[in-house]
Amino acid sequence: MARERASWDQYFMNIATEVATRATCDRKHVGAVVVRDKSILATGYNGSIRGLGHCDEEGHLMEEGHCVRTVHAEANAIVQAAKHGMGIEGASIYVTASPCWQCFRLIANAGLVRIVFGEFYRDQRIFEFSTRLGIELADLSEYVAAKKKATAEPRA
Ligand SMILES: [Zn+2]
Ligand SMILES: [Zn+2]
Repeated sequence: MARERASWDQYFMNIATEVATRATCDRKHVGAVVVRDKSILATGYNGSIRGLGHCDEEGHLMEEGHCVRTVHAEANAIVQAAKHGMGIEGASIYVTASPCWQCFRLIANAGLVRIVFGEFYRDQRIFEFSTRLGIELADLSEYVAAKKKATAEPRA
């Protein structure tokens, strides 16, 4: 039987899920992939400031119920692009969890035009503001949840 071929959105979300496995704050592992014309321009995962210890070594750095030790996946992907002089205007970003408010603002000002997320995370404001800004939001949570379930279940 022919297997079902992954759509481009599924393909890049699968890669973002893989990128997330490099994250270093176990409160939430998040991966991000910036894509334009079916090509990956940058990737990022949430991790400590370059050169400093990770949460699993130094513990979380808590502030108002959040760990603030790490730079978020979306921010790291945008920083990676900046560092390497990669233009990302007009690109899409695939994130395993929908952006927090801080990252959403960066995404908007980086000129990204489409956000594809694998699960909803916390901030509802992104729905209203993406509409106002003309940023497309795509919810892939059903696909991601079904895939997670399929890989968790032992094969018959
Ligand atoms: Zn942490
Ligand atoms: Zn964030």
